[in-house]
Order: sequence, then C-alpha cells, then structure tokens
Amino acid sequence: MSNAAAIATRAAARLAGREAAGLRRVARTVEHADGVHLRIDGRDLVSFASNDYLGLSQHPEVVRSMQAAANRWGVGSTAAHLLGGHRAPHAELEREVAAWLGYESALLFSTGYLANLGVIAGLMQRGDVCVQDKLNHACLIDGATLAGCALRRYPHNDVDAAARQLDAAGDAPTLIATDGVFSMDGDLAPLPALAALARDRGALLFVDDAHGFGVLGPDGQGSPEHCGLGARDVPLRMVTLGKALGCGGALVLGARELVDALVQFARPFVYTTAMPPALAAAASAALAVLRREPERRAHLQALVARFRAGATQLRYRLMESATPIQPLWIGEADAAVALSQALMQRGCYVPAIRPPTVPEGSARLRITLSAAHTEAQVDGLLEALDQARPA
Ligand SMILES: *Cc1c(COP(=O)(O)O)cnc(C)c1O
Repeated sequence: MSNAAAIATRAAARLAGREAAGLRRVARTVEHADGVHLRIDGRDLVSFASNDYLGLSQHPEVVRSMQAAANRWGVGSTAAHLLGGHRAPHAELEREVAAWLGYESALLFSTGYLANLGVIAGLMQRGDVCVQDKLNHACLIDGATLAGCALRRYPHNDVDAAARQLDAAGDAPTLIATDGVFSMDGDLAPLPALAALARDRGALLFVDDAHGFGVLGPDGQGSPEHCGLGARDVPLRMVTLGKALGCGGALVLGARELVDALVQFARPFVYTTAMPPALAAAASAALAVLRREPERRAHLQALVARFRAGATQLRYRLMESATPIQPLWIGEADAAVALSQALMQRGCYVPAIRPPTVPEGSARLRITLSAAHTEAQVDGLLEALDQARPA
C-alpha cells in the first residue's frame, strides 16, 4: 500500500472507531438565529449552548459598529499585523482592554486558540517546565506541546500537586497555566492559591479567562477580580472576545516586555492575517455595552440561581459551578446523548459533551445560560428536564 493510501486507511479506521463507540460528532447547521432562538433542521429551539453570556452577539449597537467600521475599512485587514494589517480599531481595542484590566500592554490574536499557542510556544522552550491543570483547555496543552517544553499536568485544582511539580523542576524556568473558569465544568481555578504559589516559587502565572471575562467580578473584569486579584497577581492573562463579548478574537495582557516579546516570537500572531478591523470595532462597542449595563450580569446571576434551585429540586446532579456554565452530570455517553435528544424534542437545544472532550465516564449536558434568556425560558428548560428524565 502506498503511504498516501495508508494515511487514508488509518483516518477511515479512526473515524469508524469513533462511530462504533457512538462518539462521532457532527456540526449541525443553524438555519436561523435570533438571540437564544435557533432553527435547526426546521425545528425552532431555545438554545442553552452558546457562550454569548451577555446576549451581545446581535446587539444593535455592536452590529452597527461593525457595519460602520466595514464601510470605512472594508472587510479584510489585507495583511498580517506587522505588514500593514494593524489598523486603528485593533490598536484602540488593545489600549481599551489593557487600561480597563490594569495591564501595561495587550496583544490581539485572531482567536483564543491561537493566543494560547502563541503565548506558550512564544515564551517557553526546550528545558523549561509548563505546569498545567488536567482540565485545562486543549489549546493550553497544545501550546506546551508546540513549545517543546516539559508538560506536567496536575489533578484538577490540586495546588499542592502543582507545588510538587514546580519543586521537581529545579532551576528550570516554570510557567503555571490554568483556565480561570473551566470550560466544561464551570468551576473556578483556585486563583489566590495559585498566585501565591507562583510568587513563592518564582513561576510565571498565566490565566486563560475565556469564560470569566465580561461575566465575573464586581465589574465583569473576570475571574481574577472575582477572587479579589488583579494584574499584579496574574502577570499574564488571555481573554477571548468570542464569548461574553459576542464577537471573536482574543487579547493577551501583560507587562510591556512580555507582550513585546510576543510580538516578535508568537508565531500565531506574526504569521497570520490580522482579524477584520470591523470585528475589533464591534468588540470595542460590546465592551462599552458590557461596562454600561451591569444589569445584564445581575440578570444572568439570577438565572443561574434559579436554574440551580430548580435542577436540585428535580434531583439532577449539578456540578460545583457558580458561573453561567451549568453542566448536569450524566456519566455514560449514550445516556447523555439520549437526554439531549429528548430535550430537543421539547424545544431545548442542550448538547451532550462526551469523551474525548471530557474524561471517560463523565459525559454531561453542558447547559449555558445567557442574559438574553428570560426566567420563563429557564423554567421551560427545567420543565423539559423533568419530562425528559430517564425512567
Ligand atoms: C473557547 C476557549 C478558548 C478558545 O478561544 P477561541 O477564541 O474560541 O479560539 C480558549 N480557552 C478556553 C478556556 C476556552 O473556553
């Protein structure tokens, strides 16, 4: 068999394996989206699946801002940032978010995935040690692989284990990387303890706050602020613009020296076309709405409390989460898929999350709430969960 045929055969075998295990995933086409209302396969559903936590993705002011910037700048940025693609709306957004979160500098990436690859592979090298939570997002793990540094993964939120891994690293430069809010569990990292550990051991702490930014903390600044921390405690932070801001892209925040180094050495920054400037303008508009309307976060928190009270009454197994990510633990992948389908029949879109996204035997329904939901919609989900529950 030729090498090309061997690759195709192997890919087909892996695919068949996924299928046989009942774990094949497919992208469903959404035919229409109006806030939390989706149409999929001709069926109208209320979505409990999006990361649009504040309901800003279709906010008129955000959309208008994108339209106006597209009129002025066109659609594409036409080049990489270092070759003429870095436009005023990009620079403006970097300045705004850095100032708001109290960092010297910020650097825009086209996605959060690329930002994490860029940070870790841009700063770490062979001989260094990257210490990470076992449940960290895939792109933090992939960043360490790309960097060629040693990767040590500690059990979820186990700060003592992280300390032992740092101690075992000897004199090697060490980076601690953690999600601020864990994307499939909804719980928070023990940021105060990790910040103290990093300070004590001289490690660099990097927090991926994809799900905390815009949602947590007294002003929506994120999970560090929720824990009473700030830029001094978290020297390097990544925030995404595609979740609470409803836009797309990401920013890395840190001291000027670190960010300047990323401009040179983060290949996912250097060697890619800058994001459309209109998207950066939209993110600035979304940030303005977020800061002006704290009532969105208050409503969201009230919905989280309402959902948790209701699901507890129905004796579903909630996970330890105070964030808008409210997974229901199911266990077996088949059962999670069956429940997801039963909810779909009742008009609720709630995807089942299965291995390999989560560990074997820990399949769940990942429910996300948004400020765009009404109390009645949350009650509707609870009623559907009651009717759909397995016998
Ligand atoms: C979504 C997510 C990312 C990736 O961000 P994108 O902008 O979607 O590429 C990174 N880290 C975490 C924890 C996430 O949840």
